[in-house]
Amino acid sequence: MSVRTLAFLLVIAQALLAGAIYRSVDAMGERATQRLAEDRLSLLSDTLQSTIDRFVAVPDIVGESRSIAGLLLAPTDPEARSRANAALERATREVGLAALYVLDDKGKALAASNWREPTSFVGHDYAFRPYFTQAMQNGRGRYYGVGVTTGQAGYFLSSRVRLDEGVSGVVVAKVDFTPLLESWTSGREHVLVSDADGIVFLSTDPALQYRPLGRLDAARSAEIRRELRYSNLSLEPVIGTDDWPAGQRATRIIDGTAWRMSVVTPWVGKGWAPAGAAALAVMASLVLILVLVTLRQRRARLAAERAAYLELEGRVQARTKDLAGALERLETEITERQRIDGELHRARDELVQAAKLAAMGKAFSGLAHEINQPLAALRTYLSSLRLLITRGAETDALANITVMEGAVQRLAGLTGDLRRLARRSDETSETIDLGDIARRVAELMKYRFADYGVALELDAPQGITLSGNANRLEQVVLNLVLNALDAVANAEDARVAVRVFKEDDRARLSVTDHGPGVPETERGRLFEPFFTTKEDGVGLGLAISYAIVREHGGTLEYERSGAGETRFLVSLPLSGDGKSPDTTPEQH
Ligand code: ADP
Repeated sequence: MSVRTLAFLLVIAQALLAGAIYRSVDAMGERATQRLAEDRLSLLSDTLQSTIDRFVAVPDIVGESRSIAGLLLAPTDPEARSRANAALERATREVGLAALYVLDDKGKALAASNWREPTSFVGHDYAFRPYFTQAMQNGRGRYYGVGVTTGQAGYFLSSRVRLDEGVSGVVVAKVDFTPLLESWTSGREHVLVSDADGIVFLSTDPALQYRPLGRLDAARSAEIRRELRYSNLSLEPVIGTDDWPAGQRATRIIDGTAWRMSVVTPWVGKGWAPAGAAALAVMASLVLILVLVTLRQRRARLAAERAAYLELEGRVQARTKDLAGALERLETEITERQRIDGELHRARDELVQAAKLAAMGKAFSGLAHEINQPLAALRTYLSSLRLLITRGAETDALANITVMEGAVQRLAGLTGDLRRLARRSDETSETIDLGDIARRVAELMKYRFADYGVALELDAPQGITLSGNANRLEQVVLNLVLNALDAVANAEDARVAVRVFKEDDRARLSVTDHGPGVPETERGRLFEPFFTTKEDGVGLGLAISYAIVREHGGTLEYERSGAGETRFLVSLPLSGDGKSPDTTPEQH
């Protein structure tokens, strides 16, 4: 269903709801007003009734008094009259009547409560008044009308007095409804009381007073005028439907009279009240709809959030899987890398070995001559030994043998050194004496130095020990000494100095020569692999040495002094307390 259709249906529903609420509240108001009107009517009619009842017995009682009887018996006696006047005046005051008076059997007023006033009834003829004729005929009369003498309206209650002496008269009490009407006027409702002819004589709305509820026929109209019921008022116009005050009307006959009382109560719950209720209901339903819509939206939002959460979770899972895959690939790569590393390591070892053999080749180039010498000596001594034995010169033969043993010893030492150096170095670490290493290298190199006519100065005290691989460190020293020899090979008075010493708590080994050194421009590349300035150079010696020293936690530095000295300085951490290791030095 589209939003527009929904809104349209909503508006229709709201209108229907408003209509229904309006109607039911309106009906409720009407019923309440009706009940109220009936209630008010019975209350107000009771007050009218009780007002009348209060005075109903008054004329009878007054008629029985002696002063009234005395007056009727002697109507012309001024004494009797003034007594009656006084009695009537007193009674009127005490009971709260408008007036009280006595008529003779011809309808003429003999005495009255208002005898002192200019509007006194005394002497007036009221024979035309229905209350006189009714009383004379039936013993009592009831009549509402406007006073002919005073001009004031009132309710006349009359009673016939019949004396044993055959004299009769009528006592009349006039009740004033003005206070009653005033009390009604102060109320919220309108009150109308009409007489037997339908003429309104009491009305809280003055505009309706003395107007008939319906059209009077001519005969009734003439009769009313004759008896001067409402003096000479016009009694017009007729009260139309529109003249009635707005509200709920309730009507009833007042007991004991031919009067009709109508009470008009203003509408309860007409107009604004049901409209307000309808508006309130619409508003309430709108609020309800709003709440429902909000709740629905909230639910939708929660569902959307949950969906988003699930999607995110899915993504996280997928991502985790990706990561796991990536991790696996990384592991494979690491394994591969390790394999390549291993290969590199092996290749590097091969290179190191090759470089070492190359260095050894150089180192031993003078060696053949050194071996030949003891061999030639041995050969000579052997032939002379054979001769001495043949001659029996035993002592000389023994001396020859001693010399030969020396030569053999020397050869054995040389081959031992060669074997040890050519050995492929392993990764083992031991306590080594740096001085021993320097000495062994010097021993190996002495023939080559001799060949080149270069002096090798060695200052290598024992006892400077460190932890490391002797074979590898020997290779470092061999490389440095060979480079130094190359640097000074063709110089005059050439010499290379190898020194082992301790400085700043580190083991140091320096190789110094007086050669040309490394050109300033090439200094940065000195330790790079394959950097060489020699025709037959490989360029690996320094790079490998640098790496070996680093592996031992040390440094390899190149220095050039102002005095034209080239110095390569190896610094290595001392082992333990730096004392000499407890090992037997190898034989040379
Ligand atoms: P190679 O000796 O095979 O050239 P090295 O790595 O041992 O390889 O030496 C690299 C280069 O460093 C040499 O070619 C040389 O130019 C320079 N060099 C090394 N030691 C010295 C030195 N003592 N005096 C002058 N130059 C040196």
